[in-house]
Order: sequence, then structure tokens, then C-alpha cells
Amino acid sequence: MTVPGISNSTAGTLYVVATPIGNLDDMSARALKVLSEVALIAAEDTRHSIRLLQHFGINTPLAACHEHNERDEGSRFLTRLQAGDNVALISDAGTPLISDPGYHLVRQARAAGIAVVPVPGACALIAALSAAGLPSDRFIFEGFLPAKTAGRRARLELLKEEPRTLIFYEAPHRILECLQDLEAIFGAERPALLARELTKTFETLKGLPLAQLREFVEADSNQQRGECVVLVAGWTAPESDEAVSGEVMRILDLLLAEMPLKRAAALAAEITGVRKNVLYQVALEKQKGE
Ligand code: SAM
Repeated sequence: MTVPGISNSTAGTLYVVATPIGNLDDMSARALKVLSEVALIAAEDTRHSIRLLQHFGINTPLAACHEHNERDEGSRFLTRLQAGDNVALISDAGTPLISDPGYHLVRQARAAGIAVVPVPGACALIAALSAAGLPSDRFIFEGFLPAKTAGRRARLELLKEEPRTLIFYEAPHRILECLQDLEAIFGAERPALLARELTKTFETLKGLPLAQLREFVEADSNQQRGECVVLVAGWTAPESDEAVSGEVMRILDLLLAEMPLKRAAALAAEITGVRKNVLYQVALEKQKGE
């Protein structure tokens, strides 16, 4: 049997294969087929992946491709691909390259003109987003936040007025600190969701405003265990002048110094995303007070 999508060139194909994030039933039929038929599987942790492959009765040889050897060992996989062997890339769980190794290998393979074929499947951020009930038309994935509070808060400050839904991966031993910092920077009322142990026995999806979500996790140590994804609703433009941020005011002030009020409000709205009539009212109040 041949693997669908194999290129006709003499070189082999690199398949980027997603594996389950907990529930083994999420292994796709196509993933099983590709993993059975390739000559070699490049795995993040061979000891971890051997158990997965044994479960499915797959005997394909494995070789390590983790973040520490990926750049150097990449050439070894490239040699096999160039010799005509098909290779599959897997990580410990979910989709390779998504907060997992594989980027350098994929990049090197593409640069060498080797066909790279995705075999999609589980991915924690997409699974969480699909069930969160937060706006999903536009979102950003921030991966893991810095481990230390100062770095984490600095990163969050930069994301404070991000209008798209934000998605973070977090380690269980840092989940409480992470929620505390999210609350401190994004505010107590910002809607959020914690997706824990997705596809596993103790799967929990808890959607609450940040302060309540932090309290929920604080009060139950079980919520500080297992794997988790944190989703936070994007920033929405304030309805009233009290809530117009310092940065928006600064832009409005600069424009007011240069042009008529109506034009300044319209331009500031275009730049900042804050509604035009809100800025118009703020500018009017400001002029009355001067
Ligand atoms: N490549 C993986 C993917 O496609 O989602 C992510 C690998 S990253 C090293 C591991 C992180 O993904 C965990 O710390 C957690 O934030 C998230 N994650 C993985 N599996 C999860 C699960 N079953 N439930 C919730 N989060 C999960």
C-alpha cells in the first residue's frame, strides 16, 4: 500500500503527524497509516513515543528529534529524505512545532526542496478554543508566558489592549500565579476560560471572569494539577470616557492640537479602535473644561 501524497521526485516526503493530547481514540486513521508506512519516525522523546506506537502495533524505527539536537540531527533526517526515504515527525503530544520541536527540521527540509506534508489532528489550543465560547473568528496564540512574575507581567502589559482572543499554555505549578498576573494586568472582569486535562478523565472547562477564575483555582488544589490552556477574551473598546486609556488620550490630544475636533475624533478612532462617538464626547468634554 502506498502513502497518499508521496511526491514523485526521488526524494522522500517529511510527514508532520499530530498525535493525541490524552485520549488515544483521537489518533487519526491517516496518522496510523503514515506512521506504519514511513521508513523512520523522528520523535521528540523516543521512550515516550514507543509506548504510543506499541499501543497501535506500529514497529517503525524511531530516532530522537528534540529541541537540543534538532538543528544538528536535522541533517541526519535530511540525508534519509534525500536518499528517498519517507520520514514522519511526531512530538510527545498534539501537533509538532506547536510549542514543540520540529521547526528547524521542517525549515531545513523545505529549504532542501523536500515535500513537507501535514497530517493534522489534536492540538490543545484549538481544542480549547473550539469549546470555549469566546470569540473564535480572530485569536492569537502566545504559547508559554515567561516563567518569572516580572517577565510575565511585562509580556502581559504588551497584550493588555489586544482585541483578539488570547490563548496561553501554562504549566500546572504556575497556573495560579499566571491567573493572578492576568487579573492584575487585564482586570478582574475580563472573561476567561481554563481548559484543563482536555480529552482526559478529569477534563474541566471553566469559564469565568478572571477574578472569579483565580478564586476557583485558588480554592481547589485539584485545579492546579494536569495540563492546561488559558483563554482570555480580547480587549474591548471602552464605552465611556472614564475608561479611555492614557495612550488613547495621548493620541487624541496630539490630534486635537493639529485639527478640528470632529476630524481628530474620527482619526483617533481609526488609529485606536475606540468608537468615534466615544472619542468625540471625550474631546467635547475636554474642550468645555479648558
Ligand atoms: N504540541 C502540543 C499541542 O499541539 O497542543 C503542545 C505541546 S506543549 C509542550 C504542552 C502544553 O500544551 C501543556 O503544558 C498544556 O499547556 C498544553 N496541553 C497539552 N495537552 C493538553 C491537554 N490535554 N489539556 C490541556 N492542555 C494541554
